[in-house]
Amino acid sequence: MTDLKEQILAYINKRSPNEKEFIQAVEEVVSSVGRVLERHPEYEDLKILERMIEPERVITFRVAWQDDAGEVQINRGYRIQMNSAIGPYKGGLRFHPSVNSSILKFLAFEQIFKNALTSLPMGGGKGGADFDPKGKSDAEIMRFCHAFMQELYRHIGDFTDVPAGDIGVGSREIGYLFGMYKKLKNEFTGILTGKGKHWGGSVIRPEATGYGLIYFASNMLQANEDTMENKKCIISGAGNVSQYAMEKIIELGGIPITVSDSSGFIVDKEGIDEQKLEFIKDLKNNKRGRIKEYADKYPDSEYVETEQDADFNPLWKVEADCVFPCATQNEINKQDAEHLAKNKIMLLAEGANMPCSSEAIAVLQESKILYAPGKCANAGGVAVSGLEMTQNRMGVYWNREDVDERLKQIMKNIHEVCLNAAEEYGVPGNYLEGANIFGFLKVAEAMKAQGIV
Ligand code: GLU
Repeated sequence: MTDLKEQILAYINKRSPNEKEFIQAVEEVVSSVGRVLERHPEYEDLKILERMIEPERVITFRVAWQDDAGEVQINRGYRIQMNSAIGPYKGGLRFHPSVNSSILKFLAFEQIFKNALTSLPMGGGKGGADFDPKGKSDAEIMRFCHAFMQELYRHIGDFTDVPAGDIGVGSREIGYLFGMYKKLKNEFTGILTGKGKHWGGSVIRPEATGYGLIYFASNMLQANEDTMENKKCIISGAGNVSQYAMEKIIELGGIPITVSDSSGFIVDKEGIDEQKLEFIKDLKNNKRGRIKEYADKYPDSEYVETEQDADFNPLWKVEADCVFPCATQNEINKQDAEHLAKNKIMLLAEGANMPCSSEAIAVLQESKILYAPGKCANAGGVAVSGLEMTQNRMGVYWNREDVDERLKQIMKNIHEVCLNAAEEYGVPGNYLEGANIFGFLKVAEAMKAQGIV
């Protein structure tokens, strides 16, 4: 086990030095995989894990476009085609200035396991650009998306690679990307998910990650004979995942009390109700405003500015029962986790990808907090993307009840397979180990069957 860890880390440090997020994601999986290899030494002989951490293909490309002032701008675009053992590459596109190959490789690597957990045939991929959508006009967003697709189109396809949204890429961007693909290829196929519902999109796709997260958390609570009813919840982020997580929490009788953006957070001890949530949705989706404005509108709430590079974020000191980080990677460090443990939170389920650092996860687990990693808890988004692909291939539209019921079932199933795998491998109740073990076994089995490629 120690040998395996050292061996993998030496390998990855040699191949991907400085890719700290990617190394972090791999490290987290390696310890779980050690348990599997003890029972399946053939996977070690076949170098399954080494092959999994080497992307099948990495595409980087120039995206040149003109801003409103007529000035030429250049960004770097990426698509990481990580693993196609169980289906076409599948995963979102992220437009954010922090995007680099380490971040996209960690996301693509996580996506392999997440997608395997959904029970749908999807491999792992991720992409994006170091483009900052903040402050850009609609016309600039359109020109950027068009320029991005002018290169990406040759690498994707409905049975090859199907991108979707992630941070900075929502339905507007998917529309512009799809428009350019259709123009270049002269075909209307499901090459992107998250499309508008009248042009190939699935109902519930915008809600899916947030709803799925809360379905998953409810399953965790239910396994402990509890429910969401009256649970005070900390939510970070104010985008799509947070908004629909809050919506579902409210529906199930829970009480969201925080929301945040990159500048600060709101604490509303009275609880964010449906009406206040509508204000947040309008503020973020239509007006593209800052969350600070919530405190002006609802003076009983408090706005706290967050300092960049501070030792801890006071958001995680707010007293609550359930915690849903829905913003970005590594938003909870060791000190933050210690604050959560001190406040005796009951549950933390990740809406974002890898929002907890490795040290933070250790603190949560030592404190016996119910902890679910993003690869199982936020898999609802890509699961409904998978359902969108199915509907596109069949040429049908399913209704809201139908898709919602399928999403609920998928989340229930993920919960079950994680717990079963954890139990079988001697780590009962450990969702992180269970998710890694189940996902690894499924993909490893397919890789073994397909030979050394
Ligand atoms: N970006 C989302 C995720 O992290 C969704 C990906 C997709 O729908 O393909 O899972």
